[in-house]
Amino acid sequence: ESRLQLIHRHIRAFPDFPNTGILFRDICPILKDPAALTAVIDLFEEHVRKNYKQVDLIVGLDARGFLFGPLLAQRLCVGFVLVRKKGKLPGATVSVAYNLEYGKAEAEIQEDAVAPGQKVLIIDDLLATGGTLYAACELMKKQQAEVLGCMVVIELKELNGFERLKPHSVFSLVKY
Ligand code: IMP
Repeated sequence: ESRLQLIHRHIRAFPDFPNTGILFRDICPILKDPAALTAVIDLFEEHVRKNYKQVDLIVGLDARGFLFGPLLAQRLCVGFVLVRKKGKLPGATVSVAYNLEYGKAEAEIQEDAVAPGQKVLIIDDLLATGGTLYAACELMKKQQAEVLGCMVVIELKELNGFERLKPHSVFSLVKY
């Protein structure tokens, strides 16, 4: 069994969650299986080492980006930074508003989290419409950091998040 097959086998689908008509992809079984989780982080690490000479920080999205991001950051011996939903971070923060499927949200980082010119990779569990990753890219732009690319475990192709994030690249392991 290949590593991608192993990962694939540890993703479940739940119809009508959190709303009717949505097929929710659940990565919890990956976290529960050490071999599958290792495969995810190995593949991310290999991608980064192959494609980027220098990475200064991994930036993870609330909340499932926090599960994979620090593991990858530790492998690469770089720091990890949190992008959170509004109101969760102490101290001075920078925020951007973005659209959800229903309504609006705000993403936030601590003002001193990223320095101008730092090269960052942004990570989350899943790319759908790309709104969330786009907001994180905007935050990085505000802080004058350089986004090298985005990384996700799962990409939902038909929602075209990939297009929304251009010119930034998206690396995904499993595509639906
Ligand atoms: P987007 O902003 O439309 O790309 O949605 C991506 C965000 O919503 C990510 O932070 C995901 O964690 C979450 N999300 C959307 N759909 C799913 C799903 O099917 N499974 C898990 N997370 C999802």
